[in-house]
Amino acid sequence: MNTILGCIADDFTGATDLASILARSGVPINIRLGTPSMECSVGDDPVAAFATAPFEIIALKCRTSPVKEAVSETRNALHWLQAQGARQFYWKYCSTFDSTDQGNIGPVAESLLQQLSADDAGKRQTVYCPAFPENGRSVYNSHLFVGTRLLSDSPMKDHPLTPMRNSNLLALLEPQTTMAVGAIRRSTVRDGSDAIRRHLHSLAEQKIVHVVVDAIDMSDLRAIAEATIDMPLITGGSALALHLPELYRQRGWLNQSESIQAMPKTRNASIVLSGSCSAMTRKQVARYCQQVPSFQLDPLKLATENQLEQAKRWLDTQNGHDSVMIYSTAAPERVCATQEQLGRERGGELVEKSLASLAVHACNNGVQRVVTAGGETSGAVVKALGVATLQVSQEIAPGVPWTFSRRQGENVALALKSGNFGEEDFFERALGMLNETPDQ
Ligand code: ADP
Repeated sequence: MNTILGCIADDFTGATDLASILARSGVPINIRLGTPSMECSVGDDPVAAFATAPFEIIALKCRTSPVKEAVSETRNALHWLQAQGARQFYWKYCSTFDSTDQGNIGPVAESLLQQLSADDAGKRQTVYCPAFPENGRSVYNSHLFVGTRLLSDSPMKDHPLTPMRNSNLLALLEPQTTMAVGAIRRSTVRDGSDAIRRHLHSLAEQKIVHVVVDAIDMSDLRAIAEATIDMPLITGGSALALHLPELYRQRGWLNQSESIQAMPKTRNASIVLSGSCSAMTRKQVARYCQQVPSFQLDPLKLATENQLEQAKRWLDTQNGHDSVMIYSTAAPERVCATQEQLGRERGGELVEKSLASLAVHACNNGVQRVVTAGGETSGAVVKALGVATLQVSQEIAPGVPWTFSRRQGENVALALKSGNFGEEDFFERALGMLNETPDQ
């Protein structure tokens, strides 16, 4: 199948989030966990396993990596997507604009733009649109809101890796880019796609390359998608992608007969692995603890008492249960105390490696259903499981679909949840959906 839209996501749950939005169109989607090799044709690649789809998403783990590394990895990803014939490209980051003073949102966008318009610098322009109204993210006067609060007053201010302490997207983007940053306000967006297009044009004449666009509801996002349909590169959270399939259909780019995959059968045994410390995940974990056997990881114990081995032994004694949970999820005070003792990176790394190792242990012992909470956590888990491609299926909650892959000759179902996504009953809801399909 021809690829129409080529996306690059800065973490794994970002990729599944984008996939779940695109999946509402019923169009087949693949998530590639890392950039597939260029040497072999995708259809024949035993690792990639699945042929190309109209929407291809490459999931990277570069949100907090050094800028140089993120730029190089995303350039490779773009190169692969270009080779699949994609007509438009999407740089997907978090709807809470998770980044540091150095990047990686701005530097990557700038480098992708350079790659896409190597011979025509005049065409170098892209939009920034993290708004996701359904999940409470909106942008007004270039300021990002989470629900009714500014980003800097939201729980994102305490994120373990990318604490967000400024809500002004222009101020966040400027230190990350070398080319000029500008804005389109809601008053223009409300006037529709022609007004946005005209404004983009006048900004381009002033050599403004990076344009932050206000959006507070879905009609704003539709107008922005329409206005930017001819831009080679668009950037944002996932919601901007919602209207793209329809716009592509109107242009005759999509074949009506292609449809999304149903979930394959898997055995009942499941595991929930949570390394997210986000406010919503803390509620989800507290609730699921009341329902299934659970084990709490503590980075300090992982560092000093070999708690990983204890967790594996505990897991081995849980065979009678359909579902269990292992989590490191903790309140901000506890995360801070841990980070003071171990350092931010070491604490995170210990948890990610341990949860990944536990996922492998569980799957090697027959588990085929895995739910992970946390972007970095999910990245570490899927990497350790060694799956290369995920096919996207039903949506569990806005931004989180069920996905499936093959591992060691068996199906594996994976729900990769970004920290703040889903309602309090997310874990039971996700696994309940699979129980509606008969056992293998
Ligand atoms: P989210 O999607 O909520 O941002 P992530 O998994 O991306 O979740 O990030 C959470 C980070 O916090 C990970 O690097 C994880 O290893 C780290 N972490 C998890 N639990 C703890 C803990 N108890 N103490 C310190 N760091 C932790």
